[in-house]
Amino acid sequence: MKYETVIGLEVHVQINTKTKIFCSCSTEFGKPPNANTCPICLGMPGVLPVLNKQFLESSMKACLATHCTVAPMNRFARKNYFYPDLPKGYQISQFEEPLGIDGHINIYLNGTKKRIGLTRIHMEEDAGKLIHGENLGSPGKSYVDFNRTGVPLCEVVSEPDLRSPEEARAYLGELKSILEYTQVSDCNMEEGSLRCDANISLRPEGQEELGTRTELKNLNSFKFVQKAIEYEVERQTRVLEQGDKVIQETRLYDSDRGETFSMRSKEEAHDYRYFPDPDLVPVIVDEAWVEEIRKTIPELPEQKRERFATEYGLPEYDAGVLTSSRSLSNYFEKCASLFSKPKIISNWIMGDLLRELNKTHQDIDECPISPDALVNLLKLIDEGVISGNIAKTVFEEMYQTQKEPIAIVEEKGLKQITDDKAIDEMVEGVLQANLGQVEEYKNGKEKVLGFLVGQVMKASKGKANPGAVNKLLKEKMSGM
Ligand code: ADP
Ligand code: MG
Ligand code: ZN
Repeated sequence: MKYETVIGLEVHVQINTKTKIFCSCSTEFGKPPNANTCPICLGMPGVLPVLNKQFLESSMKACLATHCTVAPMNRFARKNYFYPDLPKGYQISQFEEPLGIDGHINIYLNGTKKRIGLTRIHMEEDAGKLIHGENLGSPGKSYVDFNRTGVPLCEVVSEPDLRSPEEARAYLGELKSILEYTQVSDCNMEEGSLRCDANISLRPEGQEELGTRTELKNLNSFKFVQKAIEYEVERQTRVLEQGDKVIQETRLYDSDRGETFSMRSKEEAHDYRYFPDPDLVPVIVDEAWVEEIRKTIPELPEQKRERFATEYGLPEYDAGVLTSSRSLSNYFEKCASLFSKPKIISNWIMGDLLRELNKTHQDIDECPISPDALVNLLKLIDEGVISGNIAKTVFEEMYQTQKEPIAIVEEKGLKQITDDKAIDEMVEGVLQANLGQVEEYKNGKEKVLGFLVGQVMKASKGKANPGAVNKLLKEKMSGM
């Protein structure tokens, strides 16, 4: 039997605000444990939470950018459970009346576009963090840091519309770009600003009804999302093929072993006893407010991707890569405003530039080569001052030293030889030294030409113009 994979993602996004969701404590990352706390986020008796307006507006922005309807009235609810990182004994979240509903995100994979539905986006507070003594040299003890308690989050819940690990990864990538473009979150996965739970089930191909799912908790990188889902699909396939049933449970991914393992079963699942939080008034959002927020939404990745394809005549693939992050697209557009050959710019950015940045795990914002400097290099090639090959060397040097390309070219004497007489002499020399090959060429073995061009390029230390060399060789051989 063939099975179809069904995936739905729940993504927790930390929203950029200076202060926490219900108090004025700072949200700054990396402070000493419990430095960012007050009676409200510590859950002391008698305190009252007040909703952070900036958080609400950023959350509305996230909803609108993902085509969700912003509910005219939404409400906070208490999600009750006991855990040492949750001082109140409940988390303030939203349940039956979330902020955003019925949205969608378009994903692009292998040249096709697919719409993934969003069930809801709701607002909630983050919990604290437990630090176990094993890592601090005091085994058997655990410590709690409440700095993260009350940090504002949006949870984005997708419909079970994803059909493969690759689609799940593409969805997460697209969601991340949208949130970055709208600047509602820095989406820093290492610092936990973007965390993903994946729900996975299989069903026989053609069957309408969904199969039993498992939930993978806290996947904190794109790679792990894909790998963990791949493993889980294989595992569930094995279970079903043995004639067994998949058990509904929560599982964790062990990235060292590349396996998932059970954390708790459905029977152990919590009953959260949700109820509307009596300390907080319902959130009323009128249409004028929604429209005001809508006006602040910039061009989104999807629109920009389409514009890059039409305005610059770029292939879909290039447009997708270049618009994957806002800063990368800005870098490209700066270059394109200075040099009117967009495909050449795109090739250099997607090739050499991104390769160098990936090597050092750097972001385009930290790129040592400015758009101006890159364009100056491309102009040197365009004007025939240096060859494309030499340009690669100059590029590496620019990346290391941040020098202007022309300075490097002059310093190292890399200018293309445009002196016809010098090239003529080199061509003549190579022909005389390879009379056998010339004979072969004349007898119809055209491949030899490439070899001869290579010899001349070598003699010129890469500084001759290959096109000119090619032409001259042919001319001379036809007269031999
Ligand atoms: P919970 O809050 O208990 O995790 P939800 O019904 O809110 O449950 O579903 C959470 C996520 O699981 C959603 O993204 C949804 O699309 C996905 N999902 C629900 N049922 C399935 C299933 N059978 N297979 C795969 N994903 C599913
Ligand atoms: Mg869930
Ligand atoms: Zn506080």
